[in-house]
Order: sequence, then structure tokens, then C-alpha cells
Amino acid sequence: METIHIIGGGLAGSEAAWTSAQAGHAVVLHEMRPVAKTDAHQTDGLAELVCSNSFRSDDAENNAVGLLHEEMRRAGSLILRAADAHKLPAGGALAVDRHGFSTEVTKALEAHPRIEIRREEIDGLPPEDWTNVIVATGPLTSASLAQSIRTLTNDDGLAFFDAIAPVVHRESIDFDVCWMQSRYDKGEGADYINCPMDQEQYAAFIAALIDGEKTDFKEWEKTTPYFEGCLPIEVMASRGVETLRFGPMKPVGLCDTRTGRRPHAVVQLRQDNALGTLWNMVGFQTKLKHGEQTRIFRMIPGLQNAQFARLGGLHRNTFINSPSLLDAQLRLKVRPGLRFAGQITGVEGYVESAAIGLLAGRFASGLGTLPPPTTAFGALLAHITGGADSKTFQPMNVNFGLFPELKGARGRDRKKAMSQRALADLDVWLDEKREAAE
Ligand SMILES: Cc1cc2nc3c(=O)[nH]c(=O)nc-3n(C[C@H](O)[C@H](O)[C@H](O)COP(=O)(O)OP(=O)(O)OC[C@H]3O[C@@H](n4cnc5c(N)ncnc54)[C@H](O)[C@@H]3O)c2cc1C
Repeated sequence: METIHIIGGGLAGSEAAWTSAQAGHAVVLHEMRPVAKTDAHQTDGLAELVCSNSFRSDDAENNAVGLLHEEMRRAGSLILRAADAHKLPAGGALAVDRHGFSTEVTKALEAHPRIEIRREEIDGLPPEDWTNVIVATGPLTSASLAQSIRTLTNDDGLAFFDAIAPVVHRESIDFDVCWMQSRYDKGEGADYINCPMDQEQYAAFIAALIDGEKTDFKEWEKTTPYFEGCLPIEVMASRGVETLRFGPMKPVGLCDTRTGRRPHAVVQLRQDNALGTLWNMVGFQTKLKHGEQTRIFRMIPGLQNAQFARLGGLHRNTFINSPSLLDAQLRLKVRPGLRFAGQITGVEGYVESAAIGLLAGRFASGLGTLPPPTTAFGALLAHITGGADSKTFQPMNVNFGLFPELKGARGRDRKKAMSQRALADLDVWLDEKREAAE
């Protein structure tokens, strides 16, 4: 059987190594620590948690990340097994003892008879005779490998910073206030959702942006290139009251259907996924704290009850433009022997990174059937490999907005019904796989 080479022993690489080895493949896991370091990792342990010790909500009935936990458990995840074994009291969240967790993952991989761990940096594209490779080098991929990937993907396929604008669930937007229209009726004529502001609302909004509490850049993030190109909204606001009205909030070419007039300022939302359930706030990348974003962005007329699928951010983050570069099984279209997994594919978070690692491990092992799009695995995978718009692609957490609609159910019942559908479909998918493997 072909050896699978996995580059990076973080959340995704560890999960991919375990999954591939359990499926019967020989695996070589290449991890650069401690030979070379990243700016965030502190240890030489595999699957080190670089910041929080939480895997977020463990509620598989009502929360999409809790559902993903449960799906991973059922699919034999090493990361979830180690997390459950080192769980700490944290209400409804799955928080772990980070040292115990990482040690358990490291020991399990070291002890596996089909896994070899090499402590070395892969500083360029892997040799051509490695025909089955998973790149799982994460948001802090070493510079020389990142540059090689960037060259292979035509220079603009890999970003060094994310610049995330908040993403809103469409069903929470008030269409008694907002209307659909493209600027100057271009394109299809009604591609954007528009939220109008009068002069007073605009002035209050600018003041709130300037006063809002912000998060700081980490020392090592300040030196990363490509930051000036995507200024946070509050920085633009602080450059002058009118700056945003001549930038992302400009009202020209738009007419409020209720008043028949051009509003003083406009916030526009653009469709963010093929399903049309998620809409992103155009140009609203921000370093405001999450609580502040919710408070301030709900001041926008029409968004007073907004539910956010994702809040904004701006971080050092290496990720590729997966919707345009990868096929459905996470292979690079221009070089199918290279598969990607983890945060570098444009998912966001420990759990999502590990989940994509698990799927990459399955695909690399020849278990090729895709997870149903109604499952959390499938919804996340479908989003990054095609559902998301490649022109505006930014990292994404798992959330129910990525799942196909379920007619009839609303609110909490809807989430419950979606979770039940997901787990039922997952079990069928896993059974099919088991049968195929036997
Ligand atoms: C500073 C920071 C804080 C974060 N905080 C959180 C948080 O609190 N909660 C959350 O859910 N997510 C957080 N994330 C996002 C993300 O979930 C984590 O980064 C997560 O670890 C990603 O998993 P991964 O497997 O893709 O990458 P990683 O876990 O980073 O694993 C990548 C591995 O590849 C290795 N590597 C890199 N380049 C090479 C190379 N050329 N050769 C060999 N090995 C290489 C690295 O040493 C590392 O071990 C954070 C990200 C950053 C950067």
C-alpha cells in the first residue's frame, strides 16, 4: 500500500495520521517542532492548542460545533477521544487539560505500528515521488513552504492574513427596513441587501465604532505583510467622519424603496454561500471585540435582530483559496498528489481543523465517498470546496447556515431537526464505508 506523507502534526495532521493508519496505511508524519518553531506554539507536543483550551459547545442537539464533535466521535476521531479523556468542568463546553490532551495524542501516534514521526521541516514542495501527501501545516505554515505553495497556486491563491467581515443569517435580517439592489442596478440588479442610515444614525454609528473596545495585534503579527490593504472598519472611521461614506458605506447608485430617495449611508451585505442562507457585511473587517461587534452592528437599521454566523476579525493566518483550488476530496487541482487539511483550507477553529484532517485521512486512504451535505462534516466540506464564493473567500467556522434548508422547522426546533437529520445521515454514510472496507 502507498505510504501517506503528512506535513504538520497539529490538530488536522494528527487526526489525518490516525485516520489513515487506522485504515491500514503506512504513514510518515513530518512535524518541524522542535527543530523549527512557530510564533505561537510553546511545546514540541503534537496537536498543541495554541490559545484557548476549549473545543466550544458540546451540545450536539442545538449547536453546530457540538454536532461536529458527535460526528467525529462516531467516525473514530483521535482528537475527540483525547479531548473526552482530558475534559475539564466548563458548563456546556468541551474544555480540556491542554497538556494531558496533547500528550495523549502524541503517545497514541508514537505507539501506532503504522506511523513514523519525523521531526523535520519540509521547506518546499514535497518530492514528486511522494504521491499521496496531506499538507496540514496550519495558520503558521513555515515561510518557505508557504512561498512554494503560493508560487504553485499562481501567487494569489494563498493569503497570509484573514480579513473577516461578519456573516449574518439571512433569516434574521428585517426586510421591512432593508431592500435588495445592486449599486446602479448592475449585474442581476438586486444582488445586495442594503441597510439604510440617516444622518443621525450614521453619526451615532461612527461614534460607536471609534469608542468600541478593540483587540490588539500580537507583537509578531505586526510585521506580517499584506495588512495595509484591508483596514479595519473602525480604523477607517477614525480617519474622519466621512471616510466610510466614501468607502464601504457609500450610498451612491442606491435608492431606498420605502422613501424613494438615496439614504445618507448604506451598509451592504453580499451573498456568502451558494445556499443563500449566509450574507457577509461588505468591507466590515474589524478588530472590535466580539461582544462589541454584536452590540454595535445591531445598531444598523434592519440588523437590529441580526444573528451572526461569524463575527469579524483580522489575524495572521495562512490559508489557500480552497473553493477555486481544491477538488471535492481536498486535492489540489493542479497537483492531485497534494491534498490539504486543517486551517490552511480556510476552515476556522480547532474542531473544524481536526474534522477536515479526519476527512483528508479518509480520502487519502481511498475511502472516497463524500459525507452527505446534511451532516456537519459534509456541510463544512461542501462550503470550502465550492459552496463559498471564491472571490470573497475567508475562513469559516461550522454553523447551521452551511446546511441545506429544512422546510417547516423554525428557531431551536430547526436546529434540533437539522442535528437529528445530520446524525441519521452520518450513520448511513459510516455504515456504507464500513461495508466497503470489509
Ligand atoms: C495565535 C492563534 C490562536 C488561535 N486560537 C484559537 C482558539 O483559541 N480556538 C480555536 O478553536 N482556534 C484557534 N486558532 C485557529 C486554529 O484552530 C488553530 O490554529 C489550529 O491549531 C489549527 O489546526 P491545524 O492543524 O490546521 O494547524 P496547527 O495546529 O497549527 O498545526 C500545524 C503544524 O504544522 C507544523 N508545521 C508548519 N510548517 C511546517 C513545515 N514546513 N514542515 C513541517 N511542519 C510544519 C507546525 O509546527 C504545527 O505543529 C488560533 C490560531 C492562531 C494562529
